[in-house]
Amino acid sequence: MTKVDVLGVKFDRQTMAEFMTTFTTRIAKHQGTFVVTANPEIVMFARKNPAFAQLLADKADFITADGIGVVRGAAMLNTPLPERVTGYDLMINLLEYAEEQQLKIALVGAKASVNQQAAEKVQTNYPHIKIVYTHDGYFDLSDTSVQQDLIASQPDMVFAALGFPKQEQFLAAIQPALPAAYLMGVGGSFDVLSG
Ligand code: UDP
Repeated sequence: MTKVDVLGVKFDRQTMAEFMTTFTTRIAKHQGTFVVTANPEIVMFARKNPAFAQLLADKADFITADGIGVVRGAAMLNTPLPERVTGYDLMINLLEYAEEQQLKIALVGAKASVNQQAAEKVQTNYPHIKIVYTHDGYFDLSDTSVQQDLIASQPDMVFAALGFPKQEQFLAAIQPALPAAYLMGVGGSFDVLSG
């Protein structure tokens, strides 16, 4: 699949439907998949932070355009991206797939009350999903106990709602220990889901 370079960040040129086929095929094959949904703020942050740019280049398996600004930027560069593919929309589509397949998921991030409400909403809407781990997002990344407990719960999918760059740094840290899992940062999505 083709990549589109927008100010140094390499986006995957796929529609939402194509991404869903790609991701569900990989999940079924237990192929680890780290997805970054990058908005213009993330692109600008990566330009100023070489370590974060390196993390995206080295660790992310797919980068989607999470913002109309990225889609417009790609069009201006004459390397169009087909559509906006947001973390929230992807998360909802993946939860539907997880429900069908009765997968195990972990929800890390947001305030404790929001995290709990989001987990309750998921369990109500998707009763066949097994929520194997939840934790709020207000911990220090240097404290590895959250990582260890999450890894021990062996989720098929991890949704991290810690805001960038924390969520991508957290997911990159757990990636080697969860080689078959789907990992994705979802920004403020738990706030939306819990509301
Ligand atoms: N958050 C968190 N831990 C932090 C900082 C933020 O869990 O140390 C959460 C915050 O509660 C919110 C989300 O991360 O739920 C960030 O949302 P925002 O919309 O700012 O993120 P973006 O989508 O812009 O990355």
